[in-house]
Amino acid sequence: MTTVLIRNADVLLTMVAGQAPIHDGGLFVRDNVIEQIGPSDALPQTADKVVDARGMIVAPGLINTHHHLYQTLTRAVPGANDQELFDWLVRLYPIWGELTQEAVYTSAYIGMAEMILTGCTTTTDHLYLYPNDCTIDGEIKAAVDLGMRFQPTRGSMSLGRSKGGLPPDHVVQEEDAILKDCQRAIEQWHDPKPYAMVRIGLAPCSPFSVTTDLMIEAAKLARTYDNVLLHTHVAETRDEEQFCIERFGDRPAAYMERVGWTGHDVWWAHAIYLNDDEIRMLAETKDACRDKDWRGALPVVQHAARVGDREDSRDARCGGQGRAGGRRLRVERHL
Ligand SMILES: [Zn+2]
Repeated sequence: MTTVLIRNADVLLTMVAGQAPIHDGGLFVRDNVIEQIGPSDALPQTADKVVDARGMIVAPGLINTHHHLYQTLTRAVPGANDQELFDWLVRLYPIWGELTQEAVYTSAYIGMAEMILTGCTTTTDHLYLYPNDCTIDGEIKAAVDLGMRFQPTRGSMSLGRSKGGLPPDHVVQEEDAILKDCQRAIEQWHDPKPYAMVRIGLAPCSPFSVTTDLMIEAAKLARTYDNVLLHTHVAETRDEEQFCIERFGDRPAAYMERVGWTGHDVWWAHAIYLNDDEIRMLAETKDACRDKDWRGALPVVQHAARVGDREDSRDARCGGQGRAGGRRLRVERHL
């Protein structure tokens, strides 16, 4: 067992509604659990590691609810930046097709280190490309090495260009192989218990890169385990909306509802182009929407404001993290 004592902080913020900041505060941690918070003189006076936080503010770590850590390596590719989503993806898919396990580890390590340095202590990741020797294990190893609490999602793409999808065929996988590896990842890494440091989620990538069968089967598989959540992109662009109407006969949100992708165990990335009925449906099903990609960050903030205006939609939540050029945008809002 390892204990950590942080004391003498000028201000400790709990961020609990109604709880005042604690001056000259601190906290006591055993392993990865905060056992006590309060004035420094009310805490244990010794620990394996003692941090004097004089002159500092102590606050809860930020939680990042959507990310593609492997993209850390392709942030500034000529011909990709400033493109619309579909063109941006088409430019980058061939490069991502060269991804290796070493690149998965390195990109995750860099991305997580950046997050830790800016106050984020828990993150998810949506890794949906598995060319060459790539597995989700590479990014989990990076989180373990850094000590970051991690909820990676085993993403997937099964609808290649020859079947009417957007990604080239060589970066998609067969459904059986996807589901088999989803099960392996859960059974090898998933910890359903409180204070878990690693939990797996399942995350078919998006309506334009995944078959309906895979959406349904992934949800079924996740729901046979405790605390295995579901994550995907929904209603991110008008192109996607058009694709869903033409291919599935439904708008993106209605399609998700039809294939069982709503409820308390589902969170959507983006959810920008929703109408009032769809926002109400999200609130009623206790779904959550999150956004990270820079091209979606602002619209979701606007969307969050819309949801916040609605008395009957207070249970919908939006949050996320994004990048615009070299700047980092961080958006976290609970309504
Ligand atoms: Zn995304």
